[in-house]
Amino acid sequence: MPDYQSYAQGSPLEVKVISKRFGLPNSASIDVFLAHEGYQALVKALKMTPEEVINEVKNSGLRGRGGAGFNTGMKWSFVPRQSPKPKYVVCNADESEPATCKDRPLMEYDPHQLIEGIIIAGYAIGSHQGYIYIRGEYRYLMEILDRAIAEAYQRGYLGKNILGSGFDFDLATHTGAGAYECGEETALLNSLEGLRGYPRVKPPFPAVVGLYGCPTVVNNVETLSNVPAILLMGAEAYAKLGTPKNGGTRLFCLSGHINRPGVYELPMGFPLRRMIEEVGGGLRGGKKLKAVIPGGSSCPVLSADQIDVPMDFDSLAKIGSMLGSGGVVVIDEDTCMVKLAWRIMKFYAHESCGWCIPCREGTAWLQALLARFHSGGGLPQDPDTALDASYNMLGKTLCPLGDAAALPMISILKKFHHEFEEHLKLGKCPFEKNGTGAF
Ligand code: SF4
Repeated sequence: MPDYQSYAQGSPLEVKVISKRFGLPNSASIDVFLAHEGYQALVKALKMTPEEVINEVKNSGLRGRGGAGFNTGMKWSFVPRQSPKPKYVVCNADESEPATCKDRPLMEYDPHQLIEGIIIAGYAIGSHQGYIYIRGEYRYLMEILDRAIAEAYQRGYLGKNILGSGFDFDLATHTGAGAYECGEETALLNSLEGLRGYPRVKPPFPAVVGLYGCPTVVNNVETLSNVPAILLMGAEAYAKLGTPKNGGTRLFCLSGHINRPGVYELPMGFPLRRMIEEVGGGLRGGKKLKAVIPGGSSCPVLSADQIDVPMDFDSLAKIGSMLGSGGVVVIDEDTCMVKLAWRIMKFYAHESCGWCIPCREGTAWLQALLARFHSGGGLPQDPDTALDASYNMLGKTLCPLGDAAALPMISILKKFHHEFEEHLKLGKCPFEKNGTGAF
């Protein structure tokens, strides 16, 4: 198991709300958790009405940390309270977005914080059963989570009549086979039911028709890990940590050509420039910045002149990109953007479930075009053809994977068109001459 230092080198600019127990000896154990405010938020929640808990989360401005950025309390409020069917809380731990590695330390170093958040979510929506769905590549985390769940049962935080409140809640882990597509909430539910991980047509949304056809809330690991802190510090104090409508902090996964890569907890709205220069210590080898992927590989790429932006959902949307999963990739001047586009497309072509034509054919076809183009066999019309193909995927697929592949492609074709022209002119990659062109 990687030690904590492999995730974070730390920065004095961090505001530690959900990562405050990272680095404590034996931080995953229930005793350490209980010694540091553990399960106090659950005690508080059980004295409130479920509606009060939902309102507190709603007012905190917590938005889904998986990428969609929807208000979490609002999502919980969509679950029909009077439904005679059982209700479920499903934690999406299928962290598969390239450049994203923040749910992993949350499960590894503070599994009880996540468990507490799941139990509170269950209480709020009237559910008595939760599942943590973990990606196949994270199977080793099952052991940590299962041990933590067993501890929570032993101490009365899970099971029947939790803390004498009359509220019952059970929790189990479930592993996927390792498919990016199963991070999409309806594909995840199919996989959890034992079916192939194809997405479902929406509406109906899982809040009404979810797991086994019953009302279900699906929330990301980081989202649920924030819930105890919101209950303890109060919605207003939590909201104030961030920017309007973007409450709290965010775990940013800083990677790429940066001096100090790592997972850092920073307030929502933290300026991207400061994140690169002060938190990350600037670019490796004093190189110039060329581009930034602000929130995982499915986000439109930012050019170097776009980094004076607060890192929150709304500010990034205003400049045509997304906060996504918090995976920030810093790209230096020696990087070939054609090769980067090709590498991203290769990933999506591999991960496409193949159910709908624009995604299945579009990703495979684009990755073949980009591979040929990068190796010097490009045709003058290729960039326009690739742009046209990307727009024919955008918004025309059954799940967001089609958009996830098209959006970075479109941004690279538009902002770095000159690099495509250079490839054509030279008949080869202009960045390969000094042995780079890598990413
Ligand atoms: Fe499958 Fe891609 Fe269609 Fe999603 S967009 S359903 S991954 S083929």
